[in-house]
Amino acid sequence: MSVCRSNVSRMGHLDLSRVSGQVWTKDHPDYEKAAQPHQLAVQQSPEAVAIPTDVEDLRAVLEAVREAGLTLAVQAGGHGASEDLAGSVLVRMDSFDQLTVDEQGRRAVVGAGVRAEALATALAGTALFAATGTSPDVSLVGLTLNGGHSWLSRMVGTSAQTVRRVELLRPDGEHGWVDDSSDPELMRVLRGAGGVLGVVTAIELDLVHAPGAMAGSLTFAPADGPAAWRAMRDAEVDDAVSIFAASMRMPDAPFLPEQVRGKSWVGVQALALDGQVAAIDAVRAAASPLSDQVGPIGPEGVAALTNDPRDAGASAGLSVLLTGLPDEAIDAMLGWHRTDAGAAVVLLGVRRLGGALDRPGRPAIAGTRGATWLMSAIAPMPPGAADATRAALAQLGEVVAPWVAPGGLPTFLGSTERLDRVLTGEDLAALHALRERLGASVIRPTRL
Ligand SMILES: Cc1cc2nc3c(=O)[nH]c(=O)nc-3n(C[C@H](O)[C@H](O)[C@H](O)COP(=O)(O)OP(=O)(O)OC[C@H]3O[C@@H](n4cnc5c(N)ncnc54)[C@H](O)[C@@H]3O)c2cc1C
Repeated sequence: MSVCRSNVSRMGHLDLSRVSGQVWTKDHPDYEKAAQPHQLAVQQSPEAVAIPTDVEDLRAVLEAVREAGLTLAVQAGGHGASEDLAGSVLVRMDSFDQLTVDEQGRRAVVGAGVRAEALATALAGTALFAATGTSPDVSLVGLTLNGGHSWLSRMVGTSAQTVRRVELLRPDGEHGWVDDSSDPELMRVLRGAGGVLGVVTAIELDLVHAPGAMAGSLTFAPADGPAAWRAMRDAEVDDAVSIFAASMRMPDAPFLPEQVRGKSWVGVQALALDGQVAAIDAVRAAASPLSDQVGPIGPEGVAALTNDPRDAGASAGLSVLLTGLPDEAIDAMLGWHRTDAGAAVVLLGVRRLGGALDRPGRPAIAGTRGATWLMSAIAPMPPGAADATRAALAQLGEVVAPWVAPGGLPTFLGSTERLDRVLTGEDLAALHALRERLGASVIRPTRL
């Protein structure tokens, strides 16, 4: 926050008249709406919001920001919003909507405004899968610059590690592609802490060809949760199989559809790129599923596996890496979720790590470093409930503390957490050194 204050005190006149895209300054009647991120728990009050039309226009914003002594903050949808943006101009990347799929070469070029759903739609019928997260609404650039865990991670590593090259507007105004041979250190840091080095306009990603992919989704009554989670943990899977499990506890809220309102259940989902669904068979055999769906899946069907919420809302989360998932951990997590405090959390999930995540892959600053499970909890924050929600998540943090591993992926940081929670001191120093080398003080040091 001290950075923001000093920026404000040095603030000169902000002249965005050379920008041809849309601009909202604080006196504009739609300013508040334009400044709002998807994550409504974060109040953003940037000096202005701009949607530049192309690279030249983006450069014009950058220059105006520099002349005014401000910083530039970039967002796609703002699912990962983390701080007030006083002292910054917020740039949204909607106009950077390039999307090209090279089926033969198994790669795609996606602009910074492209959301996972648009890529999944473009890939329909190709049997080519991208390393997107569970939300169809999140941008590929926002996901990969912050690490990213996907259904493909056990096969290809983090989403960031599927990035072949990055198109970047550097703080000095130079624009072009960077890859592992032209600037290895810049690429390493872009893969996980990439939001503070410049403005990324596009990325090129690997795609995975999986014509025989199968997916399975089972739900169970909460009483069967411990057995289902144990079977999911013990299932032998190869690296082409990803498995997620969740305990769901929905509030009795009138806006929810009747079939889920006030209900609790446990779910296990698997995506088998090689078509091997033995893990789902093992989980099915361990308890009596309430629902049971197994079948072929294409890239366009992946988002439906978890049906993540799409509406903007205020929420808080807790996500940690785990060293293991012994019976005690399963019982502690699922038991806590049934308590009064646990009612704050709608989703308490675990994802199996390992496979390619433990192999070197493309150099990346953020990774899961040998941890075996990823735990995430999501808690909506209705007005006035922020303190109670945060207290519940802190309690969950204590419950899982015995199994927490260091590190993590920045995509899973809560809105109040900083990069030092997941990066080593050495990597943070490397990030600062790179900002220095690029002259990136004009880029807002988000989460630093
Ligand atoms: C429902 C839901 C499900 C999710 N599931 C997963 C999941 O399965 N796996 C996972 O890893 N994550 C997941 N996430 C987290 C998500 O990937 C992060 O919030 C991520 O930051 C992407 O969100 P966004 O596209 O809205 O980015 P934004 O919030 O818009 O941007 C986040 C940050 O990225 C940087 N950034 C974005 N665009 C640019 C750019 N063009 N140039 C430079 N910097 C930029 C900036 O620092 C910015 O502050 C999920 C989030 C939600 C809400």
